Amino acid sequence: MRISEAQKLIRDIYGKRDRRRGVDRTVIHLGEEVGELFRAIRDGDPSSLREEFADVFAWLLSVADLLGVDLEGAFISRYGKGCPKCGNIPCTCPEV
Ligand SMILES: [Zn+2]
Repeated sequence: MRISEAQKLIRDIYGKRDRRRGVDRTVIHLGEEVGELFRAIRDGDPSSLREEFADVFAWLLSVADLLGVDLEGAFISRYGKGCPKCGNIPCTCPEV
């Protein structure tokens, strides 16, 4: 499945309620899911880790869709040719 197909799937499943909820409240859910992913990583539970990654991605797609951002296109234009800063694959920027 391409990212654009995933975005359409999430739009088909949740688009109507996401639009009712609006960007401001939907992005809060994204933030909460990132917190849950953080806890799953910290707790080292492999099955909840998979779920939380999927949930973060789904909420990210919802927020992108509400804002009219084509996430696949955005990702490709930002990272498709390598690191956005140095342009290399792998990145050769100084490590921070
Ligand atoms: Zn770089």
